Amino acid sequence: MRPIESPRGYLWGERRFHPGKGKGRGKGARGIIEVMRGRARMKFVDISGAISPTTLEWIRKLVAFDTTSRRSNLALIELIRAEMASHALSPLVVSNTEGTKANLFVTIPAIDGTSAGGVMLAGHTDVVPVDGQVWSSDPFIAHIRDGKLYGRGACDMKTFSGVILAMLPAFISARLRTPLHLAFTYDEEVGCHGAGVLLEQLEVQNIHPALCIVGDPTSMRVVTAHKSSHLFRVIVTGVASHSSNTPGGVNAIEYAAKAISFIRSIADEHRASGPFDPTFEVPFTTANVGVVSGGVAVNTVADLCEFEFEFRTIPGVEPAEMTDRIESYLLGELRTEMQQENDGADIRIIPLGAAPALRPGTGEALRLVSQLTGATLIGAPPIGDKAVVPAQDTSHDGTVGYGTEGGLFQLAGIDTVVCGPGSMEQGHTADEYIELSQVNACEDFMRKLIQHLSAG
Ligand SMILES: [Zn+2]
Repeated sequence: MRPIESPRGYLWGERRFHPGKGKGRGKGARGIIEVMRGRARMKFVDISGAISPTTLEWIRKLVAFDTTSRRSNLALIELIRAEMASHALSPLVVSNTEGTKANLFVTIPAIDGTSAGGVMLAGHTDVVPVDGQVWSSDPFIAHIRDGKLYGRGACDMKTFSGVILAMLPAFISARLRTPLHLAFTYDEEVGCHGAGVLLEQLEVQNIHPALCIVGDPTSMRVVTAHKSSHLFRVIVTGVASHSSNTPGGVNAIEYAAKAISFIRSIADEHRASGPFDPTFEVPFTTANVGVVSGGVAVNTVADLCEFEFEFRTIPGVEPAEMTDRIESYLLGELRTEMQQENDGADIRIIPLGAAPALRPGTGEALRLVSQLTGATLIGAPPIGDKAVVPAQDTSHDGTVGYGTEGGLFQLAGIDTVVCGPGSMEQGHTADEYIELSQVNACEDFMRKLIQHLSAG
């Protein structure tokens, strides 16, 4: 059957949705909301269970913004700013240098007016692309079916932010004995650029939260450690020639292939010989080449090949050592080899972003969050030990494989853990979803946090 594309982008023949072809695409966030309103509301009727309708409404609103990292998040930030302003809060909006994206930070002071110290809840506003993924429904319309809420960012990580925004009146009316800070950042998925810019501004303003909970998906487990991640683009410049005269050119693709093999060989070494950290599901440092492009025609020696790679180190492996090894081969031996063919050839490495590893901290944030989530102390470990996890999940205790902004916050002196609703197994995938029970768990967590932080 030949599928027919409807105005909304559904292929009715297969009930599939191809992102980027819907009517709302390309209209900006506001346009998308206009297109979806009404229909999306219907999706929430009678299925919210114990979840507050306000929470679902906020998740729906946030999912409706296409905040793929390459796009602006300003419309979403403006919505949050306006919401804060309606509660008489004056958030700090910190933009990137181009003015195309922004972080938002706000403090709800303690009842005695104190803003110093306190707990920060941090969520990133950007999401990964849906390009090339086949979804069963529009990724930018939150759909609920079978106890799950579907949409891009459902678990990574608009639910955490949605719960916070729904709870804003409760946070404000609580008689807090310690301040609460809320941070919404940009560009986490492409190298944690927003968090870095926000931290600089907080330093300037002398704002130093004591603890931080980053709400990336951990199924509400307490996570005290994750790997670092480092992203790079490599540009290999060769010399074009007709393929009948290969000695007249320098094949950029072939040299890129050597560079890629080298990166793979480092990854293989770590896989075979460690160092190992058994608390991680993948217990060693990894590397991956994720994007490659080059060449124009089969009968032309390629003068350009670009690829992007990343590596993720376990705590204890120095990222600088990885970078040094890769640089010294690519920019040393390999470049020399290319330039012996033709001195116009070149290799450049451009760092795209980096997020430091998160390590077990002072234990204060861990103690707070494990108390709120009901985590069990296993074997009464010393504070700061990673062996404190919720009883329901003891695999890969206290760690996740992906990176977060948490390592940056920790470097800024904020004791940080990661704890958020949903599972990263569903993050970044087609038909990303979050179990409604996780939405509930996150609401519960926030209620307990309010209780804990308030003076009564
Ligand atoms: Zn995330």
